[in-house]
Amino acid sequence: MTASDAVNSSAGVLYVVATPIGNLEDISARALRVLREVSLIAAEDTRHSARLMQHFGIATPLAACHEHNERDEGGRFIGRLLAGDDVALVSDAGTPLISDPGYHLVKQARAAGVRVVPVPGACALVAALCAAGLPSDRFIFEGFLPAKQGARRARLEHLREEPRTLIFYEAPHRILECLQDLEAVFGGDRPALLGRELTKTFETLKGSPLGELRAWVEADSNQQRGECVLIVGGWQAPEGDDAVSSEALRVLDLLLAEMPLKRAAALAAEITGVRKNLLYQVALTRQG
Ligand code: SAM
Repeated sequence: MTASDAVNSSAGVLYVVATPIGNLEDISARALRVLREVSLIAAEDTRHSARLMQHFGIATPLAACHEHNERDEGGRFIGRLLAGDDVALVSDAGTPLISDPGYHLVKQARAAGVRVVPVPGACALVAALCAAGLPSDRFIFEGFLPAKQGARRARLEHLREEPRTLIFYEAPHRILECLQDLEAVFGGDRPALLGRELTKTFETLKGSPLGELRAWVEADSNQQRGECVLIVGGWQAPEGDDAVSSEALRVLDLLLAEMPLKRAAALAAEITGVRKNLLYQVALTRQG
Protein backbone atom coordinates (compact mmCIF):
# COMPACT_ATOMS: atom_id res chain seq x y z
CA MET A 1 0.00 0.00 0.00
CA THR A 2 1.58 3.29 -0.98
CA ALA A 3 1.29 6.40 1.13
CA SER A 4 -1.50 7.56 -1.16
CA ASP A 5 -3.54 4.34 -0.74
CA ALA A 6 -6.65 4.85 1.35
CA VAL A 7 -6.11 3.41 4.82
CA ASN A 8 -8.83 2.68 7.33
CA SER A 9 -7.39 4.73 10.19
CA SER A 10 -9.45 3.08 12.93
CA ALA A 11 -8.34 -0.40 11.87
CA GLY A 12 -5.40 -2.28 13.33
CA VAL A 13 -2.23 -3.12 11.40
CA LEU A 14 -1.42 -6.43 9.75
CA TYR A 15 2.29 -7.09 10.30
CA VAL A 16 3.90 -9.67 7.98
CA VAL A 17 6.67 -11.01 10.20
CA ALA A 18 9.64 -13.12 9.04
CA THR A 19 10.86 -15.77 11.46
CA PRO A 20 14.13 -17.79 11.35
CA ILE A 21 14.78 -20.55 8.77
CA GLY A 22 16.85 -22.51 11.28
CA ASN A 23 19.04 -20.36 13.48
CA LEU A 24 16.87 -18.70 16.13
CA GLU A 25 19.36 -15.84 16.46
CA ASP A 26 18.13 -14.63 13.08
CA ILE A 27 14.89 -13.25 14.51
CA SER A 28 15.01 -9.47 14.62
CA ALA A 29 14.49 -7.31 17.69
CA ARG A 30 11.63 -5.63 15.83
CA ALA A 31 9.97 -8.97 15.03
CA LEU A 32 10.10 -9.93 18.72
CA ARG A 33 8.58 -6.62 19.79
CA VAL A 34 5.79 -6.82 17.20
CA LEU A 35 4.98 -10.45 18.08
CA ARG A 36 4.80 -9.45 21.74
CA GLU A 37 2.65 -6.35 21.18
CA VAL A 38 0.00 -7.54 18.67
CA SER A 39 -3.37 -8.91 19.86
CA LEU A 40 -3.20 -12.04 17.73
CA ILE A 41 -0.67 -14.04 15.72
CA ALA A 42 -2.02 -15.68 12.55
CA ALA A 43 0.23 -18.74 12.12
CA GLU A 44 0.63 -21.35 9.41
CA ASP A 45 0.91 -24.05 12.10
CA THR A 46 -0.04 -22.93 15.58
CA ARG A 47 1.78 -25.82 17.32
CA HIS A 48 4.99 -25.08 15.42
CA SER A 49 4.82 -21.33 16.12
CA ALA A 50 3.84 -21.96 19.77
CA ARG A 51 7.27 -23.55 20.30
CA LEU A 52 8.99 -20.51 18.77
CA MET A 53 6.92 -18.11 20.92
CA GLN A 54 7.64 -20.18 24.01
CA HIS A 55 11.37 -20.00 23.27
CA PHE A 56 11.18 -16.19 23.21
CA GLY A 57 8.72 -15.93 26.14
CA ILE A 58 5.93 -14.50 23.99
CA ALA A 59 2.40 -15.20 25.24
CA THR A 60 0.34 -13.65 22.39
CA PRO A 61 -2.59 -15.89 21.34
CA LEU A 62 -2.16 -17.83 18.09
CA ALA A 63 -4.79 -18.70 15.47
CA ALA A 64 -4.42 -20.92 12.41
CA CYS A 65 -3.94 -19.28 9.03
CA HIS A 66 -2.83 -21.95 6.58
CA GLU A 67 -3.35 -22.63 2.89
CA HIS A 68 -6.59 -24.56 3.50
CA ASN A 69 -8.43 -21.96 5.56
CA GLU A 70 -6.71 -18.73 4.58
CA ARG A 71 -9.10 -17.82 1.76
CA ASP A 72 -12.33 -18.68 3.59
CA GLU A 73 -11.40 -17.73 7.12
CA GLY A 74 -9.33 -14.69 6.28
CA GLY A 75 -12.51 -12.77 7.11
CA ARG A 76 -12.06 -13.66 10.77
CA PHE A 77 -8.69 -11.92 10.84
CA ILE A 78 -10.00 -9.01 8.79
CA GLY A 79 -12.83 -8.67 11.34
CA ARG A 80 -10.31 -8.39 14.16
CA LEU A 81 -8.22 -5.89 12.20
CA LEU A 82 -11.26 -3.74 11.38
CA ALA A 83 -12.20 -3.84 15.06
CA GLY A 84 -8.86 -2.17 15.76
CA ASP A 85 -6.69 -5.13 16.76
CA ASP A 86 -3.14 -5.47 15.42
CA VAL A 87 -2.41 -8.90 13.95
CA ALA A 88 0.94 -10.51 13.04
CA LEU A 89 1.15 -13.05 10.24
CA VAL A 90 3.89 -15.70 10.52
CA SER A 91 4.68 -18.90 8.65
CA ASP A 92 6.57 -21.97 9.89
CA ALA A 93 9.91 -20.55 8.75
CA GLY A 94 11.23 -17.53 6.91
CA THR A 95 9.14 -14.92 5.18
CA PRO A 96 5.36 -15.51 4.93
CA LEU A 97 3.97 -15.62 1.35
CA ILE A 98 7.33 -16.88 -0.05
CA SER A 99 6.23 -20.44 -0.97
CA ASP A 100 4.09 -20.12 2.16
CA PRO A 101 0.53 -19.00 3.01
CA GLY A 102 -0.42 -15.37 3.48
CA TYR A 103 -1.14 -14.01 0.01
CA HIS A 104 -4.92 -14.17 0.34
CA LEU A 105 -4.91 -12.59 3.79
CA VAL A 106 -2.64 -9.74 2.69
CA LYS A 107 -4.80 -9.18 -0.39
CA GLN A 108 -7.99 -9.15 1.67
CA ALA A 109 -6.46 -6.80 4.23
CA ARG A 110 -5.36 -4.32 1.60
CA ALA A 111 -8.77 -4.50 -0.07
CA ALA A 112 -10.34 -3.67 3.29
CA GLY A 113 -8.13 -0.60 3.65
CA VAL A 114 -6.06 -2.19 6.41
CA ARG A 115 -2.44 -1.07 6.66
CA VAL A 116 -0.04 -3.93 5.92
CA VAL A 117 3.47 -3.57 7.33
CA PRO A 118 6.38 -5.90 6.46
CA VAL A 119 8.77 -6.92 9.22
CA PRO A 120 11.55 -8.41 7.09
CA GLY A 121 14.02 -11.09 8.08
CA ALA A 122 15.16 -14.55 7.04
CA CYS A 123 14.27 -15.93 3.63
CA ALA A 124 15.98 -19.06 2.25
CA LEU A 125 16.20 -17.84 -1.33
CA VAL A 126 17.92 -14.59 -0.33
CA ALA A 127 20.23 -16.40 2.11
CA ALA A 128 21.36 -18.79 -0.66
CA LEU A 129 21.65 -16.12 -3.34
CA CYS A 130 23.72 -13.71 -1.27
CA ALA A 131 26.38 -16.38 -0.71
CA ALA A 132 26.24 -18.10 -4.12
CA GLY A 133 28.68 -16.01 -6.11
CA LEU A 134 26.29 -16.09 -9.07
CA PRO A 135 24.91 -12.92 -10.69
CA SER A 136 22.44 -11.39 -8.26
CA ASP A 137 21.53 -8.19 -10.11
CA ARG A 138 18.67 -9.93 -11.91
CA PHE A 139 17.19 -13.25 -10.80
CA ILE A 140 13.94 -15.18 -10.89
CA PHE A 141 12.45 -17.26 -8.11
CA GLU A 142 10.62 -20.31 -9.42
CA GLY A 143 9.60 -21.77 -6.04
CA PHE A 144 9.04 -25.54 -6.18
CA LEU A 145 9.24 -27.28 -9.56
CA PRO A 146 6.48 -29.78 -10.40
CA ALA A 147 6.90 -33.10 -8.57
CA LYS A 148 6.31 -35.27 -11.67
CA GLN A 149 9.22 -35.62 -14.08
CA GLY A 150 7.28 -34.85 -17.28
CA ALA A 151 5.90 -31.58 -15.96
CA ARG A 152 9.23 -30.71 -14.34
CA ARG A 153 11.17 -31.17 -17.57
CA ALA A 154 8.57 -29.17 -19.50
CA ARG A 155 8.95 -26.32 -17.01
CA LEU A 156 12.73 -26.47 -17.26
CA GLU A 157 12.60 -26.51 -21.07
CA HIS A 158 10.62 -23.31 -20.82
CA LEU A 159 13.40 -21.82 -18.66
CA ARG A 160 16.39 -23.13 -20.64
CA GLU A 161 17.21 -19.80 -22.27
CA GLU A 162 16.31 -17.64 -19.28
CA PRO A 163 19.27 -15.24 -18.90
CA ARG A 164 18.60 -14.32 -15.27
CA THR A 165 19.91 -16.38 -12.34
CA LEU A 166 17.30 -19.02 -11.45
CA ILE A 167 16.33 -19.98 -7.89
CA PHE A 168 14.38 -23.11 -6.94
CA TYR A 169 13.17 -24.63 -3.69
CA GLU A 170 13.25 -28.42 -3.57
CA ALA A 171 12.26 -31.17 -1.16
CA PRO A 172 15.18 -33.38 -0.06
CA HIS A 173 13.65 -36.60 -1.43
CA ARG A 174 13.50 -35.02 -4.89
CA ILE A 175 16.81 -33.15 -4.92
CA LEU A 176 18.67 -35.80 -6.93
CA GLU A 177 16.03 -36.24 -9.62
CA CYS A 178 15.70 -32.47 -9.83
CA LEU A 179 19.46 -32.11 -10.38
CA GLN A 180 19.35 -34.89 -12.99
CA ASP A 181 16.65 -33.02 -14.90
CA LEU A 182 18.46 -29.69 -14.55
CA GLU A 183 21.60 -31.25 -16.00
CA ALA A 184 19.66 -32.93 -18.82
CA VAL A 185 17.91 -29.72 -19.85
CA PHE A 186 20.46 -26.98 -19.03
CA GLY A 187 23.62 -29.01 -19.68
CA GLY A 188 26.26 -30.17 -17.21
CA ASP A 189 28.41 -27.04 -17.56
CA ARG A 190 25.92 -24.51 -16.22
CA PRO A 191 27.19 -23.00 -12.95
CA ALA A 192 25.01 -23.86 -9.97
CA LEU A 193 24.86 -23.93 -6.19
CA LEU A 194 23.15 -26.14 -3.65
CA GLY A 195 22.35 -24.35 -0.38
CA ARG A 196 21.40 -26.98 2.20
CA GLU A 197 20.36 -26.56 5.84
CA LEU A 198 21.13 -22.85 5.68
CA THR A 199 21.83 -21.21 9.05
CA LYS A 200 21.73 -24.64 10.76
CA THR A 201 24.45 -26.93 12.16
CA PHE A 202 25.02 -28.82 8.92
CA GLU A 203 24.82 -25.81 6.63
CA THR A 204 26.33 -26.63 3.23
CA LEU A 205 26.92 -24.32 0.29
CA LYS A 206 28.31 -26.26 -2.64
CA GLY A 207 28.89 -24.38 -5.85
CA SER A 208 29.94 -26.23 -9.02
CA PRO A 209 28.76 -26.91 -12.57
CA LEU A 210 25.47 -28.83 -12.67
CA GLY A 211 27.04 -32.10 -13.83
CA GLU A 212 29.55 -32.13 -10.96
CA LEU A 213 26.92 -31.03 -8.45
CA ARG A 214 24.60 -33.87 -9.52
CA ALA A 215 27.44 -36.42 -9.23
CA TRP A 216 28.42 -35.07 -5.78
CA VAL A 217 24.87 -35.31 -4.44
CA GLU A 218 24.45 -38.76 -6.02
CA ALA A 219 27.61 -40.05 -4.35
CA ASP A 220 26.70 -38.84 -0.84
CA SER A 221 23.25 -39.61 0.54
CA ASN A 222 23.82 -37.06 3.34
CA GLN A 223 23.45 -34.37 0.68
CA GLN A 224 19.96 -35.68 -0.04
CA ARG A 225 18.70 -34.73 3.43
CA GLY A 226 17.48 -31.50 4.98
CA GLU A 227 16.11 -28.38 3.36
CA CYS A 228 17.57 -27.12 0.13
CA VAL A 229 17.69 -24.24 -2.30
CA LEU A 230 19.11 -24.65 -5.79
CA ILE A 231 20.57 -21.74 -7.70
CA VAL A 232 21.43 -22.03 -11.38
CA GLY A 233 23.28 -19.48 -13.48
CA GLY A 234 21.24 -17.96 -16.29
CA TRP A 235 21.61 -18.85 -19.95
CA GLN A 236 24.43 -17.05 -21.69
CA ALA A 237 23.84 -16.35 -25.35
CA PRO A 238 26.68 -17.82 -27.38
CA GLU A 239 28.74 -15.19 -29.09
CA GLY A 240 29.46 -14.76 -32.80
CA ASP A 241 28.28 -17.31 -35.32
CA ASP A 242 26.81 -19.64 -32.71
CA ALA A 243 24.24 -17.08 -31.71
CA VAL A 244 21.20 -18.84 -33.11
CA SER A 245 18.47 -19.28 -30.52
CA SER A 246 16.57 -22.54 -30.23
CA GLU A 247 13.47 -20.66 -31.45
CA ALA A 248 15.30 -19.62 -34.65
CA LEU A 249 16.47 -23.22 -35.10
CA ARG A 250 12.91 -24.45 -34.65
CA VAL A 251 11.67 -22.08 -37.36
CA LEU A 252 14.53 -23.10 -39.65
CA ASP A 253 13.84 -26.82 -39.16
CA LEU A 254 10.13 -26.37 -39.89
CA LEU A 255 10.90 -24.52 -43.11
CA LEU A 256 13.64 -26.96 -44.16
CA ALA A 257 11.05 -29.72 -44.04
CA GLU A 258 8.88 -27.82 -46.52
CA MET A 259 11.20 -26.09 -49.03
CA PRO A 260 14.69 -25.92 -50.54
CA LEU A 261 17.52 -24.97 -48.22
CA LYS A 262 18.28 -21.56 -49.65
CA ARG A 263 14.63 -20.47 -49.55
CA ALA A 264 14.20 -21.86 -46.00
CA ALA A 265 17.26 -19.95 -44.74
CA ALA A 266 16.03 -16.71 -46.34
CA LEU A 267 12.54 -17.05 -44.93
CA ALA A 268 13.81 -18.06 -41.47
CA ALA A 269 16.05 -14.98 -41.52
CA GLU A 270 13.05 -12.76 -42.25
CA ILE A 271 10.98 -14.35 -39.49
CA THR A 272 13.64 -14.47 -36.78
CA GLY A 273 15.89 -11.54 -37.60
CA VAL A 274 18.99 -13.78 -37.62
CA ARG A 275 21.49 -13.15 -40.45
CA LYS A 276 20.59 -15.04 -43.65
CA ASN A 277 24.16 -16.23 -44.26
CA LEU A 278 24.43 -17.60 -40.75
CA LEU A 279 21.14 -19.49 -41.07
CA TYR A 280 22.28 -20.76 -44.48
CA GLN A 281 25.45 -22.20 -42.91
CA VAL A 282 23.48 -23.68 -40.00
CA ALA A 283 20.99 -25.22 -42.47
CA LEU A 284 23.85 -26.81 -44.40
CA THR A 285 25.21 -28.36 -41.20
CA ARG A 286 21.78 -29.59 -40.12
CA GLN A 287 21.09 -31.20 -43.49
CA GLY A 288 24.60 -32.49 -43.99
N1 SAM B 1 8.97 -18.98 3.57
C1 SAM B 1 10.22 -19.67 3.47
C2 SAM B 1 11.32 -18.70 3.06
O1 SAM B 1 11.18 -17.50 3.36
O2 SAM B 1 12.33 -19.09 2.52
C3 SAM B 1 10.12 -20.84 2.53
C4 SAM B 1 9.07 -21.85 2.92
S1 SAM B 1 8.96 -23.22 1.86
C5 SAM B 1 7.52 -24.02 2.44
C6 SAM B 1 10.17 -24.31 2.48
C7 SAM B 1 11.35 -24.47 1.52
O3 SAM B 1 12.23 -23.37 1.68
C8 SAM B 1 12.19 -25.70 1.77
O4 SAM B 1 11.65 -26.85 1.13
C9 SAM B 1 13.52 -25.30 1.18
O5 SAM B 1 13.50 -25.42 -0.22
C10 SAM B 1 13.55 -23.81 1.57
N2 SAM B 1 14.21 -23.64 2.88
C11 SAM B 1 13.62 -23.27 4.02
N3 SAM B 1 14.54 -23.24 5.01
C12 SAM B 1 15.72 -23.58 4.47
C13 SAM B 1 17.05 -23.74 4.98
N4 SAM B 1 17.32 -23.53 6.25
N5 SAM B 1 18.02 -24.11 4.12
C14 SAM B 1 17.75 -24.32 2.82
N6 SAM B 1 16.53 -24.20 2.29
C15 SAM B 1 15.52 -23.83 3.11
